[in-house]
Amino acid sequence: MTTTIIGFPRIGEQRELKYATEKYFRNEINEEELVAFGKELREKHWQLIKASGITIIPSNDFSFYDTTLDTSFLFNLIPASLEATKLSEFERYFAIARGYQGEKGDIKARPMKKWFNTNYHYIVPKIEKKTKIQLKGSKIFDEYLEAKQLGIETQPVLLGPFTLLQLCEFEVGVDRKAISEALIEAYKEVFTRLSELGAISIQLDEPGLVKDLTVDEIKEFELTYQQLLANKNIQVLLQTYFGDVRDVYQTLIDLPIDAIGLDFVEGIQNQALVQQNFPQDKILYAGVVNGKNIWRNNYQKTQALLRSLNVSNLVLTTSCSLLHVPFTTENESFPKEIKQHFSFAKEKLRELTDLDTILKDEATEQQLLNRQLFETERFVQNQALVEKIAQLTVDDFTRKPIFSQRETLQKARFQLPVLPTTTIGSFPQTKEVKQTRAKFNRKELSQVEYDDFVAAQINDWLAWQESIGLDILVHGEFERNDMVEYFGQNLSGYLFSQNGWVQSYGTRGVKPPIIWGDVEREQAITVKWSKYAQGQTDKIVKGMLTGPVTILNWSFPREDISLKESTYQIALAIQEEVLDLEANGIKMIQIDEAALREKLPLRKSDWSKEYLDWAIPAFRLVHSKVQPETQIHTHMCYSEFTDIIPAIDQMDADVISFEASRSNLEILDELQRQNFKTQVGPGVYDIHSPRVPTVEEIKETIQTILTKVPIEKVWINPDCGLKTRGIPETRASLANMTEAARSVREEL
Ligand code: GLN
Ligand code: ZN
Repeated sequence: MTTTIIGFPRIGEQRELKYATEKYFRNEINEEELVAFGKELREKHWQLIKASGITIIPSNDFSFYDTTLDTSFLFNLIPASLEATKLSEFERYFAIARGYQGEKGDIKARPMKKWFNTNYHYIVPKIEKKTKIQLKGSKIFDEYLEAKQLGIETQPVLLGPFTLLQLCEFEVGVDRKAISEALIEAYKEVFTRLSELGAISIQLDEPGLVKDLTVDEIKEFELTYQQLLANKNIQVLLQTYFGDVRDVYQTLIDLPIDAIGLDFVEGIQNQALVQQNFPQDKILYAGVVNGKNIWRNNYQKTQALLRSLNVSNLVLTTSCSLLHVPFTTENESFPKEIKQHFSFAKEKLRELTDLDTILKDEATEQQLLNRQLFETERFVQNQALVEKIAQLTVDDFTRKPIFSQRETLQKARFQLPVLPTTTIGSFPQTKEVKQTRAKFNRKELSQVEYDDFVAAQINDWLAWQESIGLDILVHGEFERNDMVEYFGQNLSGYLFSQNGWVQSYGTRGVKPPIIWGDVEREQAITVKWSKYAQGQTDKIVKGMLTGPVTILNWSFPREDISLKESTYQIALAIQEEVLDLEANGIKMIQIDEAALREKLPLRKSDWSKEYLDWAIPAFRLVHSKVQPETQIHTHMCYSEFTDIIPAIDQMDADVISFEASRSNLEILDELQRQNFKTQVGPGVYDIHSPRVPTVEEIKETIQTILTKVPIEKVWINPDCGLKTRGIPETRASLANMTEAARSVREEL
């Protein structure tokens, strides 16, 4: 039997790619040096995968920023506005990803969206009327050859045409049929070129197939592939992940594809589909090693699953790309009893080869050890907590009085001007901030010294916020490394890796903590700094918390209890924190749910039952017990919300801010249509780009917002937290934002 993976984490064991790319952004290395660095890293990874015994090794899963953006460059899906700039091809790539402002032009970053149900984000391709689809890039060929020269035969990976078109934004008036035909031709050219270079097969990723599909979409998929596969000169693996393919299974097995890749971890129903019927002449790539979570694979269960499929042409693979898990457990210092339960990307390679051997020969030592691992109890359950959750009633999830009455009370209490201005929470985490924290963590600074530093930062930024006339202030989150880790550190049941980074977008990574056991609040978490900050000014400073759904979604969850149960545990812990803040004089509390949508099932039919029915109540549980006059804010970002607006309203917050500017404020129409009751701050400028928006630009955005949302509901704020930005651009942008709000107010 053979083994493969869908993709490997490209950031490197120590996030080398991030550091190199950021050096390039800062002009500390040039294009040539960055390109050379990428090449070295790819070789290292190919060698590692090969050495671990994986037989089919992928290529073109590497990317300097995002593989969807790479695909846009491969097929020339480049906005025409770029033509007017003097940027080189390489610079254009990053300009689309991050925006560019300088002597060579002024380019806004393309929107970034969540990659299906993960925390990875892709750059949305755009097809304009002027777009001429053609095979233009050469990355996929170059990387195939690069590996070949090292003596490594690879299977190139490419996003498939069906999913690519699903992800594209289309300019009005684009002839979709013509686009689709040109695209198919371009893919065929890729096949031809690859086969000329000696490639035997290609992996086409089609995660778009695991969603609910309409009859028309199924037809479109079928037609696309019939054309694509006609007279093909290369073997095609159609790879799906993140769910099951129930809508297209029959179509899939009828098509002349050589191999089909299915996810047996998230796509539970795939098992039954395959059992009913899988063609003898096709190869099944069985995704059995979880590409999203970090727990060891249960060999016994996997073995049973594989046997039940009854397929003879089998390749063992991961459920999705290993992009979504950290690189290796080798550099972690967990005690052995703990570490043995974890498997990161490198360890998963080993699991695949283990499974391969086990399937051939039952009694290996690995199998025995694996069985023992799953038979030992990891920790003792907290029975009191289990009971507390079982006894929650409707009242625990209901804030009183109803929203409209609270709104009146709060307007009277806060006396804010129309279009109140605020910001999302964090200010730049400069080198100085990070280094000081690192020193403190290494015990090179005392608690007093560190606290003095944080206090000075807070004072400086409070004074600055007052000086530009911001209405509601924030303390800046200088004491926090990460909005989830910071909370996890003060909750029982959490474990932290030292190097468990996962790519979130571009050079940005997250280090999700691991929920190991039952979660409870061990001590007050944010009270000290919130109280301090509020004590320094007469203006209101928002308390700043992370919500339970986001804490869960940005952690590696347990697999022995349900997500709902884990989230309620976290919600009870954050509820204690909310009440503590309120008791300490904090009048507005923002509870961030940045990742609310992350685990929303990909199929609409599963939304309520499997997710929203507990995720929304979990948020309500957190704030249900506060006083009517305490204003609860929430914040969301990184995704589309248009389709879950009613659910967001049901969170029953008083104010919500969300990312909107990169998506052209599409969400406003929906707010209007749904008669959204919660007050809203649709982000008025994009913070994921270093570009400084002008006062005029922001004013226009505000005017647009006012055409859709009643003025008494509108707040003015940036898209998201500012911790990834530099100080100069942050100050310039926020000053322009307050100026724009002031100016609009005056004109009213
Ligand atoms: N309050 C957080 C911050 O400003 C929110 C971050 C986020 O939404 N991702 O950093
Ligand atoms: Zn945000």
